[in-house]
Order: sequence, then C-alpha cells, then structure tokens
Amino acid sequence: SMASPALLMRVVASAYSVAEKAATIVRSVMSAGDLGIVEKAGPNDLQTKADRLVQMSICASLARKFPKVTIIGEEELSTDDVTEELIEDGHCEEILKEPCPAQYTGIKEEELVIWVDPLDGTKEYTEGLLDHVTVLIGIAYGGKAIAGVINQPYYNYEAGADGVLGRTIWGVLGIGAFGFQLTEAPAGKHIIITTRSHSSTLVNECISALNPDTVIRVGGAGNKIIQLIEGKASAYVFASPGCKKWDTCAPEAILHAVGGKITDICGNSFQYNKEVKHMNSAGVLATLRNYDYYASRIPNTVKQSLVP
Ligand code: AMP
Ligand code: MG
Ligand code: MG
Repeated sequence: SMASPALLMRVVASAYSVAEKAATIVRSVMSAGDLGIVEKAGPNDLQTKADRLVQMSICASLARKFPKVTIIGEEELSTDDVTEELIEDGHCEEILKEPCPAQYTGIKEEELVIWVDPLDGTKEYTEGLLDHVTVLIGIAYGGKAIAGVINQPYYNYEAGADGVLGRTIWGVLGIGAFGFQLTEAPAGKHIIITTRSHSSTLVNECISALNPDTVIRVGGAGNKIIQLIEGKASAYVFASPGCKKWDTCAPEAILHAVGGKITDICGNSFQYNKEVKHMNSAGVLATLRNYDYYASRIPNTVKQSLVP
C-alpha cells in the first residue's frame, strides 16, 4: 500500500483549504458591511474584523491538525474562544498526490514554523481596492521559507459574473508553484512595483535611482509578488522598514519555487526560524528575473540608511 504523504505535503494541502475558507471570511465581512476597523500603531496600520476572524480561523484550524507546529500570526489574538464555524478541516487532494522533495520527507512537526498574514493589504481592503488583498500562509524549515499558499479572495472581481471570483496559488521549493500563469516581465523595461500607502522619501529616492520606465503603486506584499510572477512588474522595491516576516514568508517560497529571488534592500536573505525578529527592517528587493541588475543599482546611501 502507499505510504502516507509526508508531513510537509499534508501541511501545504491543509493550508490550501484553510486559505480558501479564509477567503470566504474576507468576502463575507466585506459584504456584511461592518469592517470593525481598529488602528494598531496608527492610521496606516489597521486591523479589521476580517483580519481578526481569519487569523483565528487559520491558526486554530492548523493548530488542531498539527499541534506541535509553531504558528506565528500577525494579529495578537487568542484562539481559545474560536467558534467551530471558523474551523476548516479539509485539504487539497491534488497537493497530496505530489511527491515530497527528498530533502523534506523527514521533517517533524516541531521543526516547522508557519507564518500567517490573515489579510495582507488591509489599508486597501478598507478603501475598496479589493484585488490588492491576499491571505498568506508561509511554511519555514531550518529558517528558510520552503512552501507557501497565497489566496487572492477578489481575483477577477472586476470581471463580474463571467469570472470565477478568487484564486489560490501554492508552491513548494523543488516542486514549483501553481494556480497562476508564470510570465516574465517585458524584456528591457524596468517596471518597479512598490507600496501605495507606506511611502517615504527614502522609498522614492531608491526607486528614482533605478531609472524606472514605470512605477506601479499597489497595496500588499502578496499582491506585489503575484504581479512579479505574472510579468506585470520587473522588481518589487521597498526601501523602508514596515514589512514583516508574515508578509514575506509565503511570497518568498512561491517566488523561489519558480526561480525568483527576494532579499532585503542590502541583499541579505530573510530568516524564518521562530526566534527571529518579525520586522524586515532593511526593506524588500524581489524579482522573478534579473535580480542582480536591480541589486547592483541600489544606492549605497539607501543601504546605509536601512540597518537589518
Ligand atoms: P504595502 O506595500 O504598503 O502594502 O506593505 C506591505 C506589507 O507591509 C503590508 O502588510 C503592510 O501593512 C506592511 N507595512 C509596510 N510598511 C508599513 C508601515 N510603515 N507600518 C505598518 N505596516 C507596514
Ligand atoms: Mg501584510
Ligand atoms: Mg495583515
């Protein structure tokens, strides 16, 4: 008989279904109309009822199935009083059929860290820029992002009744990434994608130094990585602190699974072990292709202003 699937594949398969449940919560909170907005650090650091419910849903659902895995979510909430209707216990059968890469077959629950951003792009969610929003579940082992799920609850929302609303992208290092059409950005064009709501003088100085043909300003770390892997932008450049480990873990795994690269602005890779500092203090630089072109053009003055 077949051996039971490796832990990593079971976690990814469950995270897929948990992220789809999360998307239904994101859409139902918006349709109900009461977002319950709370300011965290300030007016550009918001939490809504969707951030809270989705965090509880994802963390409680995964903790119930994988009790020894470390789960770190963005929102500071207890899952003690989670209601049963928030629990998802399904999984994606297609993912379970994929063989686990040999280097990951022996992973134990205690060795995994799951980084959860229940709703990435909250500011844009509150402003009705719905396709900027993603749900991020990143899976780390040995300090590295090795697998991830990105759900985009409002993918296709402008297509109206003709399009299927929402999609789930998943990836594992050594297998690849699925649920989207991998596309390279136009050759010879420098299309920079960056923050919409967390800009600063340094963020803009850094982009100017890259001589972009176009600058796209949109919300969400997940959204920006999707635009890189779909060829809408050539580099994600964010020369500022503010982005956290739960913003980059799932996007990093998916980007790396298709041969891209993400680091901080200084070129350091991110670590995702459970003890790590949450803040990506030295910003973000990510590309699907031609990472060195952009990395070599980041001014030293910008690098010196951002201390990892
Ligand atoms: P953005 O590109 O502005 O959507 O940022 C990507 C992610 O980093 C989002 O989760 C933001 O909430 C977070 N982020 C970036 N800058 C800041 C900031 N200055 N304060 C709080 N969160 C931030
Ligand atoms: Mg986020
Ligand atoms: Mg968030």
